[in-house]
Amino acid sequence: MPELPEVEAWRRALDAPVRAFPIERAGPAHVATVKTFDPPVRELEGRRLAGAERRAKRLLFPTEDGELVVLIHLMSAGRLRYLQAGEEGPKTPAFRLAFQGGGQLVLTERGAKKRAGVWLLSPEAAEQELAHLGPEALGLGPGRLAEILESDQRRLHSLLRDQRAVAGIGRAWANEILHSARLSPYALSQDLSQNEVDRLATAVDSELERGLELRMRGAKDKRVYRVHDKLGEPCHVCGTPIARVDFEEHTIFYCPSCQTGGRVLKDRRLSRLLR
Ligand SMILES: [Zn+2]
Repeated sequence: MPELPEVEAWRRALDAPVRAFPIERAGPAHVATVKTFDPPVRELEGRRLAGAERRAKRLLFPTEDGELVVLIHLMSAGRLRYLQAGEEGPKTPAFRLAFQGGGQLVLTERGAKKRAGVWLLSPEAAEQELAHLGPEALGLGPGRLAEILESDQRRLHSLLRDQRAVAGIGRAWANEILHSARLSPYALSQDLSQNEVDRLATAVDSELERGLELRMRGAKDKRVYRVHDKLGEPCHVCGTPIARVDFEEHTIFYCPSCQTGGRVLKDRRLSRLLR
């Protein structure tokens, strides 16, 4: 699933083109993709977007008149592209906005399951939709992070992915951040020393910024990630093969030398207990 660096890179790329021209035609819109029906998406026609914004892993496109907001959550398989005038688009997009200049904003989703969503909302309703989200991960700082860690006794990998606690990090960047901070994914949030909190705060910013920079240059997963999805590959710091462990419904990747003092983590997948 795209996380803060990926979505922020898209936001920056989309900001100028989406506000260049008013919307000429809104649609087609797959019935499973568009999650709201009032107002209808046709309400966007003739309006100009004010640009692209981001909150956590969501993209927001407010209209210039301040009346409407298009909110897009791409989930795992959704992709959003801006096509220049004359560029050929997909035959059956999940959602499309065609602009007067001939450009198009196109949402596609691989697979039969339509999980990506588009909401057309008033600014007030959009604010409500986002109210549950915690502060943005990038630029959080050690003080604010310490408060979040203190607020609940949780394993770090789980807490970092909790959008209500801190917004924008998913399983891939949680792996990268914890490796960079040299912390175990299973470490408990309230047990960290001041030094460890500082390391974690630094790692959140440095890893998300590294990801953003690489994504803006169009780098693919293989080059962007150094730990995530790298089972058996040498750790880029110490050369130990990267290990993998199942945790809740996720798979965690980590370096046993850098992060867990050589200990191999045991599975904590919930489904194992149910078998
Ligand atoms: Zn290592």
